[in-house]
Amino acid sequence: MSLEFIPTRVFYEPSALDYPLGKTLVEKFRQMGISVSPTSSHNRITGIPGNTATTQYREAKRTLVIGVRRSGTFQSCKPSAHYQLPLVTSCPGMCEYCYLATTLGKKPYVRIYVNLEEILGIASKLILERLPEITQFEGAATSDPVPVERYSGALKQAIEFFGRETNGRFRFVTKFTEVDGLLHAKHEGHTRFRFSLNCSEVVKNYEHGTPSPEERIIASGKVLKAGYPLGFIIAPIFRLEGWQDSYRRLLERTSEELVKRAPSGWSSEQLTFEFISHRFTSRAKTNILGVFPNSSLPMEEAERKFKYGQFGYGKYIYQPEEIMEMKEFFLKEAKGYFPLAQVEYFI
Ligand code: SF4
Repeated sequence: MSLEFIPTRVFYEPSALDYPLGKTLVEKFRQMGISVSPTSSHNRITGIPGNTATTQYREAKRTLVIGVRRSGTFQSCKPSAHYQLPLVTSCPGMCEYCYLATTLGKKPYVRIYVNLEEILGIASKLILERLPEITQFEGAATSDPVPVERYSGALKQAIEFFGRETNGRFRFVTKFTEVDGLLHAKHEGHTRFRFSLNCSEVVKNYEHGTPSPEERIIASGKVLKAGYPLGFIIAPIFRLEGWQDSYRRLLERTSEELVKRAPSGWSSEQLTFEFISHRFTSRAKTNILGVFPNSSLPMEEAERKFKYGQFGYGKYIYQPEEIMEMKEFFLKEAKGYFPLAQVEYFI
């Protein structure tokens, strides 16, 4: 299933028209017959319909805002990178446990920024400041950047920018599969292209509006063939009925596809894995049930261990012995299917 993002409505900041990309996009959406209206700020959008949390959320996910990013710096992004690279905000997917749900609020409309050259100029400055060290940037800290790539071309531009940068590295993660436009980008091995994977029952039940794991695995094979450093985030990991078999099948199928697509001389040494067991905060649970009142997500506090967090709120994680069992399972299976791959962490 292809999940092309076609917004229902588009807003633009008038200053976005000062940039060629802003002008082109406004014209393009008008020609597509989509409602296009000006807005005073990409941070304050009124005019997204809906009387309930569920409808407001759904309508926001179909709303695209074309804006200019004005801040002269980037937020830090520890521990995975030094800085966020803000190309896009939000995404049209509707994962019940989206990691952006708390930060983006009740109307997570999708934003793209048209002043890409200025944004990459900030990246250049930050790289210079850290010389001779290498500076890492994360492109998915505020979004899944792939679904709007067809409109903005921002990822390709960023990938080629880092291809030319000796001391800058880029990474991002996606659940989406429209990767063909990125396969010929001159990445020079400086961008790590990661896919977020989960077993089919989890994707089907909780990751609404995103491609199946099979489609993501096929896309990852294309990315590998294109010579990118590749990685997988398996998250969130649930202990659903038969979880070992489901996750083993997922890793087995991934390995089969990668072996088929790998360029000659490739070894799993160049592959990374990140594993994240499911966790939730009380606030996230309330938000999720506000938007998805019939959610079947396992979020029973009594079954979990409460762990205090560093920002004053705690989260509910699996019991320590369950986490230990999951960790042993994933480390063993990863080693079995990808003997040399680097497991960055299991949490
Ligand atoms: S694909 Fe990623 S960013 Fe988009 S809704 Fe799902 S978790 Fe959130």
